[in-house]
Amino acid sequence: MGRIHTLPVSVVNRIAAGEVVERPASVVKELLENALDAGSTRIDLALEQGGIALVRVVDDGGGIEPEDLPLAVSPHATSKLRVAEDLEHIGTLGFRGEALASVGEVARLVIRSRTPAAVAGASIEVDNGRSGEITPEGCAVGTTVEVHQLFGKVPARRAFLRAPTTEWSHASEAFVRTALANPGVAMSLVHNGRRIHDLPATTSWRERIGGVFGAAVAEKLIEVEADDGEIAIHGLVGRPDDDMASGRLQHLFVAGRPFRDRSVLHAVQEAYRGLLLSGRQPIVFLRLDLPPEMVDVNVHPSKLEVRFREPSRIYRLVLSSLRAKFLACDMKARLESPAARDWAPPATAGDRRGGESRYPAWFGQPAVREAAESTGWRQERGGSSAEVPVPAWEQATAPAASGAPTAEEMAVQMHNRYLVVESPEGIEVIDQHALHERVLYEGLKAAVANGALEVQPLLIPERIELSPTELEVVNEHADKLAAAGMRVEPFGGATVIVTSKPVLAGSTPAAALVREVLDRLASNPGGDGCMLVDEVLHGLACKAAIKAGDPLSQDEVDALVRDRRRVQDAHHCPHGRPTSLTLSRQELDRQFRRT
Ligand code: ADP
Ligand code: MG
Repeated sequence: MGRIHTLPVSVVNRIAAGEVVERPASVVKELLENALDAGSTRIDLALEQGGIALVRVVDDGGGIEPEDLPLAVSPHATSKLRVAEDLEHIGTLGFRGEALASVGEVARLVIRSRTPAAVAGASIEVDNGRSGEITPEGCAVGTTVEVHQLFGKVPARRAFLRAPTTEWSHASEAFVRTALANPGVAMSLVHNGRRIHDLPATTSWRERIGGVFGAAVAEKLIEVEADDGEIAIHGLVGRPDDDMASGRLQHLFVAGRPFRDRSVLHAVQEAYRGLLLSGRQPIVFLRLDLPPEMVDVNVHPSKLEVRFREPSRIYRLVLSSLRAKFLACDMKARLESPAARDWAPPATAGDRRGGESRYPAWFGQPAVREAAESTGWRQERGGSSAEVPVPAWEQATAPAASGAPTAEEMAVQMHNRYLVVESPEGIEVIDQHALHERVLYEGLKAAVANGALEVQPLLIPERIELSPTELEVVNEHADKLAAAGMRVEPFGGATVIVTSKPVLAGSTPAAALVREVLDRLASNPGGDGCMLVDEVLHGLACKAAIKAGDPLSQDEVDALVRDRRRVQDAHHCPHGRPTSLTLSRQELDRQFRRT
């Protein structure tokens, strides 16, 4: 007897379920897609325990005829295509006809449905592969699908599910992506009985983005449009200074579907090159509209990846449309123009930028520098030296080293972003942001470790409107925020107030600090307590640090270079980027053929 045999349907289904149903988020995605394909105008999603205990989707779409119910839950049964050619121009989100069958194999699935023409509806239940009878039911027009206890009877799969909070973050992400792709459909999300999102139908993509991530984020987005006759791009993208620690706010859509694509994201990053610090991520919402034959969505079981017929054309269009917009907004000027004069202090007679030399006369010569000070370029810029404001970080760190700077602390700022210093080895070029971030991070970390973090209560607490997801993060991690000096309290709805921040954070607005930190926490759902506090400190340091492009007074430059001595690993910023580069004297001598 041969050893090859055809697998029973239930085994085939379980194998398919492994592909389609990975976790509650995949169930959410499939059920929402079915509701959209049914032409719903309103979709309500409810989850219990991150979706592990229950996923329920209620829609007001076209419904399922009672006699079709058994087909809806059997594999490769679909109403969405008939012949292979239909695959060439898919207009629906689903078409494989395997989602409900797969889910029914690994959970208890209940479907109640009624078509608009019918006077009553019907229901069917599939309990871990065992299908029940069609039962008449009086229900509203539309369909309700419930998935109870996912993998409840498949321990091997259940073991791979993470804690409910982690599953929740994936499941809510799936909801968010669908909601962003379909602003015209009213959608709501309830978790463990709590209403998280309630999004009215809208024709404005910006409004939907605001509904999901908060109006504060949406208002500032820049609109990008491009159309080459076939491919249209519609984007809402962030300003470079609203950069993020993670790519959490990067969403791509094609033909109404969220998708992931390295190449498109790379084009976006290229467009931001020079405008963002390395490691920082822009906010991007991008929608591509192109003829169906130019994109294949049938390359991935959960259809998250798509294949474009002309990927390089899309790459170029994305890159050029964003670039053109940025140039029009004149954003490049801030970081790239060598003469970012607007950002520099006003030129004066003793201007260190002026004169024949591009370098100040006293560069590298302590004696001359004293003279330069007494001839008073500083006075010209800011009154008497006594009135020169003390830099924010100087107020906070241990007593400032006093007295004239030593030769190796002689530093000068260049291009509003680098500090050039003479060092025993040669010439050192310091990245002002990276160094300051390091200084702040080390300062915060030491203070937290010693229980000596100086916290500044805010005279006027700052109110911040958060997105529902951010609010969840605040609720979950308020203790870590507090440990880092950020006291955040609920203020009704999605609003919180910040009542304190660490003194080290200087004058950076509390809202900016909180958003940065929440972004990091949200993209890091699995970390332990200590790690998360550290993440908060990184976030604070990054946001509070001076930026590339910020002009500094000489006092600030000196203070920063002095502080460098106090931090343990001054040569790397917390992201692991170098804070300074050295051009050795040896190398200089060699280049000038002195040796
Ligand atoms: P697919 O979406 O790939 O067709 P599914 O297993 O997800 O496969 O669904 C099977 C069929 O059940 C669909 O083709 C559709 O006819 C029907 N169906 C599923 N969900 C709904 C819904 N919410 N409203 C109306 N019909 C639905
Ligand atoms: Mg489907």
